[in-house]
Formats: sequence, C-alpha cells, structure tokens
Amino acid sequence: MNKSIIQLNKLLNIFFLEVGIIALTLAILFFLGKSIGHSWPLFSFGLGLYIFWHLYHLLQLLKSLSSQQMLQASIKFGIWKEIWIQLQLFQQNSHSQKNDLITDLDNYRIFINKIPDAVIIINTKTNEQKNIIEWFNKSAQSTFNLKKKKHTGSHINDLFTELAEYDFSSLKNNKKRMTIHSPTDQNKIYSLRIIPYHKSFKLLLFRDISRIYWVNKMRKNFIANVSHELRTPLTVISGYLETFETHFKKDKKYLPAIQSMKQQSLRMNHLIQDLLVLSKLESDTGKLKRKKLIDVPEIIRSIIKDTQMLTDNKYQIEANIDNSLMLLGYENEIQSMVSNLINNAIRYTPAGSTIKIAWYSENKNIFFSVNDNGEGIEKQHLQHLTERFYRVDKGRSRSEGGTGLGLSIVKHILNHHNAKLKIKSQIGKGSQFICCFNKLG
Ligand code: ADP
Repeated sequence: MNKSIIQLNKLLNIFFLEVGIIALTLAILFFLGKSIGHSWPLFSFGLGLYIFWHLYHLLQLLKSLSSQQMLQASIKFGIWKEIWIQLQLFQQNSHSQKNDLITDLDNYRIFINKIPDAVIIINTKTNEQKNIIEWFNKSAQSTFNLKKKKHTGSHINDLFTELAEYDFSSLKNNKKRMTIHSPTDQNKIYSLRIIPYHKSFKLLLFRDISRIYWVNKMRKNFIANVSHELRTPLTVISGYLETFETHFKKDKKYLPAIQSMKQQSLRMNHLIQDLLVLSKLESDTGKLKRKKLIDVPEIIRSIIKDTQMLTDNKYQIEANIDNSLMLLGYENEIQSMVSNLINNAIRYTPAGSTIKIAWYSENKNIFFSVNDNGEGIEKQHLQHLTERFYRVDKGRSRSEGGTGLGLSIVKHILNHHNAKLKIKSQIGKGSQFICCFNKLG
C-alpha cells in the first residue's frame, strides 16, 4: 500500500480514538451526573474542560510557530502529539530543502565565478527602470573594473554605451551574438551573448575575441591595401598592352601572346575590383549609411537589357516583375546583387537556355529569384558557394571570367539588408537563387 495512505489511515485511527475517548468520557460524566440529578451541568463541565485543553495547546502551538525556531512539542500524547510530530517533520523537510538550495546556489556562484568569461546578470523588467545590473562575476569585476556597491543597481547602458539602442526584450535579438568594445579599454573586443533565463532576467556572457578581431581587421586592411595598390600598375600594364596590340596588329608571332596577356590583365582587374567591393562591404556595417527607397524593378529591367545586349540575345530571359514593389536599402549594393546573380545564370547555362527572373512579394517578405535550366550544382557544394573563391569547377569559372567572389559579395549585401540567400539546385535541371527580404527592411 502507498506510504501516504498508510500514514492517513494511522492519523484517522488516532482521530477516531480521540473522538471515542472524549465521547466515552462525556457519556460517563452524563450518567454520573444523572445519579446526582445534574447530568447536563456535569456534561457541559467536561466538554468545557476538553475545549479549554485544546485551546491551551493551540496557544502553545501558535507560540512555538511564531518563535520561528525548531518546534518543541508541548504535549506527548493523543491527537496533539501527532499534530506536533507532523509539523516537526514538515519543518525538518523544509529546512533540509532550504539547505540543499543554499548549497546549490553556493556551488552555482562558485562555478560562475570560476568561468573565465565575464558574466553580468541584468533585470529587464524592474518597475522604475529597465536593464538594471543585478549581479556580476569576479571576471566581470576585473575585466570591466566593476565595483559591487557602485555598479549593482546601475543601468547597463551607462556601462556599455553601444547597448543604448539595444532592445533586450526582442526574442530575435537574444539569439544573436554581437561585438562590443570594453568600456575600460577600446582595444579589447568582446563577443556578447544574451541568454534569457527568466522572464525578467538576462545573462550577458562576454567572451574576449580581441586577438581574432584585430587579426581579422589586419587581414581585411591588408587585402584592401594590396588590391588598391595593384590597381595603378595594372592600369599602366593594360594601357601598354593596348598600345602593343595596335602596334603588332599584323604580327602573328607576338599578337596571340599580347592578347593573352590582355585577357589575363582584364581578369586581374575584375578580381581586384571584386576584392575591393568585398572589403568595402566587410568594413561597412551599414550603420553610417541611410537606407533609401529603391526602384528595384527599374534596376532589374536595366540589367536584363544590358545582359541581352552583351549576349547577343542568345538567352531567353523571362521576367516576372511586380512594378509597384520598392525596397528600402542601398542602391549600389542591390544593383551589384542583381547583376551578380543574373551574370552567374548566364555564365553557367549554355546559350539558348531560359532564365527566369522574378521580383515579387509573399506574406511579409519580398523575393528576388533567378532560375536557370543549366547544368545544376551537386548538393555537397551548395553550403560552400558563398565562401570566397569557392568554385565547383575552377577551370570553368576562370574561362567564363569568374572571380569566385560573386556569391560572397551577394551574401554580404544580403546581410546588410537583413535578408537571406537560398540556393536550390538539381544536377541536369538547373539552379535557383532566391533572395528573401523582410518587407519592413
Ligand atoms: P564565380 O565568379 O566563379 O562565378 P561565384 O561566387 O559567383 O563565383 O560562384 C561560385 C560558384 O558557384 C561558381 O564558380 C559556380 O561553380 C557556382 N555557381 C554559381 N552560380 C551558378 C549557377 N547559376 N549555376 C551553376 N553553378 C553556379
């Protein structure tokens, strides 16, 4: 039988025994009273005495409870003995639970203080103010020079000005990692992760990424500088090659070599241009520029027209464009995205194929899609296509004048617009590149 049922049965037995004893006592008093002609007064006296006895022990119990100390039984028999035992058991259980909780909390504090990353807990829903610092670990104290008395209860935005505009209540934001400067040392960069663990509390986890950040910055600057520096000598070389080409027009010995050099310098030029575009996109977080309402249908139409001219109308281009659909964004970037995707469709599709271009809206999203019925891409390549210099077929890309940077540029542009790129492809059937924008920008 269940333990609690046994316990309940035991208590019921004690209760009925108590009721039995008092009923018997009162009956005896009643009949004794009858023999002397005072049955009801004697019965009432017994009942009163019994009630008084209960009230007395009730008072003892109240006294003991209000003392907030360990309960001391005032009586060791009958129903009151059982009441005291049950209450003492209850008190012991809650004490041991409390001790367990305190131990857990201490362990948790020790653990969180041992974490080398800085941890700050903020309360996002206090009555008067929002985003108040509640607690921080030892690492946060030393990293950001925090003082318990001074900073507990202060505003997180006062410490990190970069968080002034940050919406902690947005669920979408909670999943993101953001890069943040240390308030005490601008050379120190942290990756901040916001972890909600209660409806009012958020845990901010700061990981030092200064080394990787500065190495990355150096790499980006290096690529940008090298590309920039190469532009001038390349322009000079291209200029001379033009002259040589005219000069050796009829010379069968040198002309092919000059033409090949010209082609290669053109390729290098494209590569440098793409590298410069990419490094500009990488260094530009989009914070400084203002988004404008762009006439995307016009951009698409103009690029289709240029493409048809350059390819001598060798492709059948079908466009399904919603002319009323504008986009809030950066015009040059959208132009580059459209032209990169259309150029790719042309580059990797044999002449005579059909390319379908669409600009439309569905629910809360706006889509730009380019479909081709070219060779298609094997599944294992799809996730790598937006990496720099990733090509499925290097030779093919080079011979078609590709740089391997087009889709990487597209991805960065989409990031600036909070948009996503989806690639679907089937070998032998063709590929589909879909850019998905949020209507609200
Ligand atoms: P590239 O300059 O080489 O075209 P991209 O970054 O634009 O560089 O594209 C990366 C690779 O993705 C290409 O080399 C090609 O292998 C593949 N690719 C891109 N678009 C298509 C397409 N429409 N059909 C087939 N393959 C494609």
